[in-house]
Amino acid sequence: MKKRIAIFGSTGSIGTQALEVIAAHPELFSAEILTAQHNEEALIAQALQFNPNIVVIGDERKYEKVKQALSATPVKVFAGEAALAEAAGIDCYDMMVAAIVGFAGLKPTLIALNEGKSVGLANKETLVVAGDIVMQKSVEKRAPIIPIDSEHSAIFQCLVGETRNKIEKVILTASGGPFLGKKPNFLLNVKRDHALQHPNWKMGAKITIDSATLMNKGLEMIEARWLFNLQPNQVQTLIHPQSIIHSIVQFEDGSMKAQMGLPDMKLPIQYALTFPSRIKNDFPRYDFRKPCQLNFEDPDIKTFRNLALASEALNRGGNLPCIMNAANEIAVFAFLRNRIGFLDMTDVIEAAMERLPFIENPSLNDYYESDGEARNFAASLIRL
Ligand code: NAD
Ligand code: MG
Repeated sequence: MKKRIAIFGSTGSIGTQALEVIAAHPELFSAEILTAQHNEEALIAQALQFNPNIVVIGDERKYEKVKQALSATPVKVFAGEAALAEAAGIDCYDMMVAAIVGFAGLKPTLIALNEGKSVGLANKETLVVAGDIVMQKSVEKRAPIIPIDSEHSAIFQCLVGETRNKIEKVILTASGGPFLGKKPNFLLNVKRDHALQHPNWKMGAKITIDSATLMNKGLEMIEARWLFNLQPNQVQTLIHPQSIIHSIVQFEDGSMKAQMGLPDMKLPIQYALTFPSRIKNDFPRYDFRKPCQLNFEDPDIKTFRNLALASEALNRGGNLPCIMNAANEIAVFAFLRNRIGFLDMTDVIEAAMERLPFIENPSLNDYYESDGEARNFAASLIRL
């Protein structure tokens, strides 16, 4: 029996790599749902190659073109945000690969969990915004969440066979991004094209900027807290520029386990699809005999203040991570359009976190409202 996969965000960096894994193992997997927001050309090409049951194009203006291009195939074509949510609820797949970027990934992921589907989770913002509700849904519906984010996949892999053993802490490694070692006077003048040059990973634009500001690691601290049921003080971050150790778990007896390998997202994607098994592949291997150094240092949170803001959001909880995430999405969007500077992003996020009302125990509806308010507030500061 093939595992039937639904890839939400199939045209992105994670989505296309998930399809590469599926294409390499047609005997194990089929692609049943593919979705994209704007890139209809890529979606059409994917549909012609993988012959899914359903495709959804978020941008409704592209519907006719997609429909036309697939008219000779049995592929069902839908468009719009509501269709995205509806598709997540259709019982034609076994696992969702949640590869949409940002808050937009929350709703389809919750629907998949509600239907009892397993979720391979790349979309970390889902857990940052509403981690309590998402994890609760996963438990209630016995719908497993398998992390795809490389650090969380690493931790997940280290925890195999350790279900009874208490975690003392987890150490999330961070490459430090393109501006490691730089100070604010340098960052003041950084432009988008420079910030988009990540040293180790080729990823979508939003996460690449998040990696340059270290917000990505902040989001990942919150993601780890929920995935592995940790207290905020059990999540530590460590700069490791080579990105070979993908993260570390330290157990109660002081023993540490790390998961290692070359930085290549196809490995955590494949593991999420095949868990609990591992299958053979021909991805390049890391070779310790070649001249190499593995370095570690503390992150510079005075320069990269987003990480300090994310720690505050992690510690205070409630709707603060949701507010932070929304303001960050707006700030990154504005930076990518050259509307604000690199350091302005932090100011926007900090202002939103200070000004918007704190809710200690938010409902799902509160999260939606906080997200909307924080977006409006951040956009008003930038005058988008
Ligand atoms: P990307 O920008 O390359 O792709 C995003 C995908 O989501 C595209 O298919 C796009 O069409 C779709 N999308 C965008 N906005 C949407 C919206 N409003 N509604 C519906 N669909 C929408 O992003 P990515 O780099 O593939 O990252 C996806 C997620 O995975 C992010 O949450 C990111 O943090 C996480 N992640 C990515 C990597 C990586 O290597 N790229 C690693 C770890 C985690
Ligand atoms: Mg990561």
